[in-house]
Amino acid sequence: IASKLPNVGTTIFTTIGQLANAHNAVNLSQGFPNYDPDPKLLELVGHAFKSGYNQYAPMQGALSLREVISEKIENLYGHCYHPESEIIITAGATQAIFTTISTFVHSGDEVIVIKPAYDSYEPAIELFGGVVIPVALEGNDFKMNWEKFKSAISSQTKMVIINTPHNPTGSIWSKKDMLKLQEILKGTNIILLSDEVYEHIVFDGAKHESVAKYPDLASRSIICSSFGKTFHATGWKMGYCTAPQQLMQEFQKVHQFNVFSVNYAIQIALAEYLKNPAHYLHLNGFYQNKRDYFLDAIKDSRFKMTPSAGTYFQLLDYSEITNEKDTNFAERLIEEHKLASIPISVFCGTDYNKRFLRFCFAKTNNVLDQAAEILNGI
Ligand code: PMP
Ligand code: GLN
Repeated sequence: IASKLPNVGTTIFTTIGQLANAHNAVNLSQGFPNYDPDPKLLELVGHAFKSGYNQYAPMQGALSLREVISEKIENLYGHCYHPESEIIITAGATQAIFTTISTFVHSGDEVIVIKPAYDSYEPAIELFGGVVIPVALEGNDFKMNWEKFKSAISSQTKMVIINTPHNPTGSIWSKKDMLKLQEILKGTNIILLSDEVYEHIVFDGAKHESVAKYPDLASRSIICSSFGKTFHATGWKMGYCTAPQQLMQEFQKVHQFNVFSVNYAIQIALAEYLKNPAHYLHLNGFYQNKRDYFLDAIKDSRFKMTPSAGTYFQLLDYSEITNEKDTNFAERLIEEHKLASIPISVFCGTDYNKRFLRFCFAKTNNVLDQAAEILNGI
């Protein structure tokens, strides 16, 4: 078979997950909570299933859900997306991202991808004939070098993909970063795909910098978000995207033949649940507590860390322990110590030589304790 993706293997989340299961390891690798959504939300879902929402949802999603998303964005970021024409409910952020790339990337178009990058972006770009132009975040704190970013832009650049809060590093962009991005893109036709799935998980009083806050960015952006992250329900694969009508019209042409629509009953339940902003605004504090609990438990270990600024991931620097490549060390941690994490070189590219592993702290304290005990003994 002539593969369309000859260089793509199985995603790290599946390979590490399988290895973790085979060794019965404490699993802090793939990013998902080991606790359930709020019982109130589960009740609303159960009720919606029993109330006849068992056939196709409208193609763009339930209007009641799109209305409440529109309100949420306007309240938080001051930008109004019209519920009827500028919001679509998707099968997780993954579908929103894939559909965005397939809608806008033509063969030969360049797409700037900031590395390390979440692993679903590049295969989609390649599948549609796009050319990935990587720009690496720099230093052990993964900062953007805006001069380098600027010089990566060419007349072929069709799209830039950004992700704040950032998976896998847990770094966030500041207002200064967003203004710099806005200034560099000014006067171009470049489309921005803004992956904001961790928008409600930022720490230490920082504010999430959505592109929706910046009119010159919002007018060229598709924003992707995920209910999986926000409501401890990654298995539901529910997300949404927002964009100005002109862009959304094109997105919709693909979306209608990609999935047509997604789970109706869950949309109805989410529409009700989202009416109370406390249901998502408490997440910053909830995950900050988990981060602090985890970091405190391993403060005397030989791993070094800068506290994560957002997401539910923490990078740990193991350079004092070994000089092994992260993929080897991650495997050895599972096989010898029964602890699973994600080696981040798989999101980086060939010239990456840092010594970090990514740990997901969206876990009960009991599981974080088990992980800490292992890390303290290494
Ligand atoms: N983008 C990033 C940065 C992610 O971390 C994830 C999920 N892990 C996704 C997109 C996909 O989100 P979903 O599970 O809603 O498809
Ligand atoms: N986003 C999750 C992570 O980074 C994994 C999602 C997936 O398995 N595709 O761990």
